[in-house]
Amino acid sequence: MVSRDIIAVHWSQSRFGNPVLVIGGQRYRRCGQIVYGRGTWRCIKSDLGCKSYAITQFNHVIAVGNSHTSHNKKKIVSRNKKRKNLFYSKIRINGKGL
Ligand SMILES: [Zn+2]
Repeated sequence: MVSRDIIAVHWSQSRFGNPVLVIGGQRYRRCGQIVYGRGTWRCIKSDLGCKSYAITQFNHVIAVGNSHTSHNKKKIVSRNKKRKNLFYSKIRINGKGL
């Protein structure tokens, strides 16, 4: 499905210096290399399960596929617990009563 709506498109850069494509306020990151001027971009939320992608050719967006999904999913936060455990084991290691 290719949207016929006029959507604002611009190029940007992530804070790591990687190219970012912004289509209608949604950010895409490049997936693979540009081949014969054609690049494939995947939604920045693709690791949350979003299947949206865009195809560009010579810096023009020629196709946008799939609508955005899964943007509101939150990654399971279990790191705080791990950090706590680390903290306690550190105290134990530092103790000199062993
Ligand atoms: Zn998306």
